[in-house]
Amino acid sequence: IHLLQSGKSRAGSTFTGLINLFSTVSAPQRLAGKVAVITGAASGIGEATAKEFIRNGAKVILADVQDDLGRAVAAELGPDASYTRCDVRDEAQVAAAVDLAVARYGRLDIMYNNAGIPSSTQAPVASLDVADFDRVMAVNARAVVLGVKHAARAMVPRRSGSILCTASAAGVVGNAVPHSYSISKAAAIGVVRSVAGELARHGVRINAISPHGIPTPLAMRGFGDVFPWASPDEVRRIIVSDINEMEGTTLEVEDIANAAVYLASDEAKYVTGHNLLVDGGFTVGKRLDVQA
Ligand code: NAD
Repeated sequence: IHLLQSGKSRAGSTFTGLINLFSTVSAPQRLAGKVAVITGAASGIGEATAKEFIRNGAKVILADVQDDLGRAVAAELGPDASYTRCDVRDEAQVAAAVDLAVARYGRLDIMYNNAGIPSSTQAPVASLDVADFDRVMAVNARAVVLGVKHAARAMVPRRSGSILCTASAAGVVGNAVPHSYSISKAAAIGVVRSVAGELARHGVRINAISPHGIPTPLAMRGFGDVFPWASPDEVRRIIVSDINEMEGTTLEVEDIANAAVYLASDEAKYVTGHNLLVDGGFTVGKRLDVQA
């Protein structure tokens, strides 16, 4: 099935539908009947997670600002997926995405605050571009707070739910990527830690997932700005292999989707306030490349 899937086009077809059907039937259904909203779901990690959630029996509202792409992804994922435009910088649009889930399915079980943008300037802190900082914080940190607020509004009265937030390995280690991005991701981890205790007393869990580099459009743009001399192929190589600590394998969007399925599922019923690093040991194991 995976070999066949990798060859298919985005156009969608009966063939694709059959593949998805086989894939769903053979999946373990770890999220059976759950209702999810995923922001930033038109691409990359969000798209892969929407696919994996649906394969595991969830109904998913994909929320993004890339309308054509988001609609195409939802159509490809079948009747358990739908797309809604949601600019996560706008509180009313975040509230509306949550309300849509409740209106359509009667509740919200999983809120995945995943939308993000890279910083476009790599500069010493003494010449930090504050406009860039505000732009990055609005999506990567402030919008996470909005998503948590409105998910809690829907989940607390039902005394159940799982909130996920995509942070980053860059939110744990400093000095790897532009400060604005690192700070925004550290803030996302801070949001999780700040509210987990309160939400636990209402039966609601919240966790962060911190990926390392994956060559999605966001990372290609972000690392491209950090290494302006590098061609797209070189940027991809830097992300996939130069900064990879894990011998014999590389990080893929599906690895983050699998982490999200676990944290969203009842298998993680006692896990909250956690930051699940999916970084191949980068934040704990970076070697000093010193030649003898
Ligand atoms: P991506 O570019 O494939 O997806 C990001 C999505 O977010 C896009 O579909 C984009 O349209 C959407 N988005 C951007 N601004 C938005 C807004 N204002 N409202 C709604 N949606 C918006 O990149 P990705 O790598 O899949 O990024 C997903 C998350 O993972 C981000 O939070 C990113 O910071 C984080 N992350 C990525 C990496 C990596 O190396 N790819 C590493 C660590 C963390």
